[in-house]
Amino acid sequence: MLALKNLVKTYENGHQAVKGVSVDIKQGEFIVLVGPSGCGKSSILRSIAGLESITGGEIHLNNRRIDNEKPASRDIAMVFQNYALYPHMTVYENLAYGLKNRGIDRDTIESKIEKVAKTLKIADYLERKPAKLSGGQRQRVAMGRAIVRDPQLFLFDEPLSNLDASLRAHMRLEIKKLQRELAVTSVYVTHDQVEAMTLADRIIVLNQGEIEQIGTPAEVYHQPASTFVASFIGSPAMNFHQAEIADGVINFEHQSIFIAEYAHLSAQTIQLGIRPEHAVLEPSKSGLSFSLTVQAVEPLGPNQLVHGLVNDKVFTALTPELHFASKQVLTLHVAKQHLHLFDKNGQRLQALAQEVAQAS
Ligand code: ADP
Repeated sequence: MLALKNLVKTYENGHQAVKGVSVDIKQGEFIVLVGPSGCGKSSILRSIAGLESITGGEIHLNNRRIDNEKPASRDIAMVFQNYALYPHMTVYENLAYGLKNRGIDRDTIESKIEKVAKTLKIADYLERKPAKLSGGQRQRVAMGRAIVRDPQLFLFDEPLSNLDASLRAHMRLEIKKLQRELAVTSVYVTHDQVEAMTLADRIIVLNQGEIEQIGTPAEVYHQPASTFVASFIGSPAMNFHQAEIADGVINFEHQSIFIAEYAHLSAQTIQLGIRPEHAVLEPSKSGLSFSLTVQAVEPLGPNQLVHGLVNDKVFTALTPELHFASKQVLTLHVAKQHLHLFDKNGQRLQALAQEVAQAS
């Protein structure tokens, strides 16, 4: 439905912000572009919208090449972080503006606005100016303005980042419901991994203008393609410790375990990744155990973060609310299916399927 083919964006100062990005996005799909500040998210979004010209590659929307079309003729609606509402116009006029410009008659405009205002619960504010609205209401109006246009594609540029935490969580859910209801293909930019996980059908993780991984939220969380993705998705971030592997035997902290699914790997030094929520106090039947010397505990309410040292290297675990004294030594366990293996360059080492591993 939307296809980016080897998209390249180089700015006038010579900075290459997007270095050949290719992706096929399906009809009705909700795609989230996520990555740290400066990784090229906005450059990609603005290129799709036509607010930036591209340096190389092609953009196709519904089998039509659009990268050389003017922004107005691309049939794309964009929702911005700062809402971009006209301050001197009422909510109604803001919603009607784009439609009027396209020569749509008054009655059609009125019925469209009525419907959208009802969906977004802004019907009571139609005569107000944006200055008299809360942040959440302004954000709804900005969404409404995109929806009344019936576009083929929605683009969202960090639309929730100006809202406080509770409103952000609320609006996040509203956007998700609305997108499901309208089934309009959407590309959403955020640096917030929670937004990415909760909203996306598929997440695109970007690193310095290149795609690190494309996958469902479950895939990027459970099978991160690299240490970069593993540290970006999931909070608090995954712990990494050096370990050795040979013939499927992992040596870590004076312990060895054999994992048949990794027996095909050549002997090498690896980075072993363990998520804080997978380092638990209960022993597991198959897995690794290691000692953590407690340094500090951060209560979160339902559970707590325990920061400490594993063989002189910092490690964070998520445990139930229990009292641990400073310097107390805990034994933590991690089940083998929760171990992530990365090579020395930070690329994920794939496990063989269990049946294949057992047969070989
Ligand atoms: P993100 O949205 O992920 O924060 P951007 O797409 O805004 O990233 O920027 C990607 C890179 O391109 C950054 O290094 C940024 O400084 C640079 N950049 C963005 N806009 C311009 C511009 N108009 N001219 C030069 N460099 C730019």
